[in-house]
Amino acid sequence: MAKALNTKTLPILKTILHMPDINEVVEVLSDGLKANFAEVSVDYVDCPDLTKEPFHLASSGLGGNPHLLDIGGVSYLLPLVNREKIYNLADMCKVLEVEPGFLLGAGAGPWPHLGVNCEGVINLRVENGKVDQQTRIASISPTTAEKGTGSCKLEVLPQSETRSALLVNLLLSQGKPGKVLRVVCKKRTGTLDYIAAIRQCLANKYVDKCIGLGGAFVLKEGKSKHHIMPDFSKIALNSNADVEDWLHFFDMSAPMINLGTLVSHDPGLDLRLQHFHAFSQHGEGGHYHIDTTPDTAHYLGYFTLAEILVRVDRPPETLDFGQD
Ligand SMILES: [Zn+2]
Repeated sequence: MAKALNTKTLPILKTILHMPDINEVVEVLSDGLKANFAEVSVDYVDCPDLTKEPFHLASSGLGGNPHLLDIGGVSYLLPLVNREKIYNLADMCKVLEVEPGFLLGAGAGPWPHLGVNCEGVINLRVENGKVDQQTRIASISPTTAEKGTGSCKLEVLPQSETRSALLVNLLLSQGKPGKVLRVVCKKRTGTLDYIAAIRQCLANKYVDKCIGLGGAFVLKEGKSKHHIMPDFSKIALNSNADVEDWLHFFDMSAPMINLGTLVSHDPGLDLRLQHFHAFSQHGEGGHYHIDTTPDTAHYLGYFTLAEILVRVDRPPETLDFGQD
């Protein structure tokens, strides 16, 4: 069984993120998102209980010491996999001293658990050393299926399995109730996906400043495009075309619950600009790209701004492909 790397010895770099006035952010998104959606409503509200329908999260809120974690990177997956890169996420809460720790987001699932590569939809709470693991993993079934012939297999990780691999993008908080941004968008009229649209608004307004945001959104109606990684390629993947050819794509049906993070700008830390993975109550899950039914698309999202960005185990080199 492949062992996780010792979290205490991983290289960690902490940066303070820009925290603009929240009312200004509400205004910026309210105005800016109209370029991409016919109906937009953005508010700063009390977080509903996210453990409930339709979110099914391990904690009720997103509040309390919010951090963004960008762990590993694409160059541990491509051109060929680096099998040493296994991280223990429960230990991250301990090392970063966030207690209780609630982690949500997108990453490569624990391939040693499944025996093959998979997508991780991280949804994990740790309190007093006790783990509430509600992370889902999505994989291709059967694992050897040729592209276009397999289906999605979605399962909940066992409580004892808190590993992830290669690259992970997380919001870490204490999972407390509190105020959050609520972003509702309906009927997509532009070309950007929901998260890219939010990111674009922030990047346009706060030029050269890094704003980080994490949370959950549900596609309530319509369908969305997701990919699931098959098992690791034995042939080196050297371009976006190679990666596109390798990934398995699916059109998945609402409601899809998407968890992840975005940053408005990379201050030179080899950050993933946006990364959301989805799960559902009907057996589908995977990496979010965009809705495929723009006329009926209906998004409801709750997000928090993060105060601190933590870059963990940054790869020695940055790849200029495979970042989508
Ligand atoms: Zn992904």
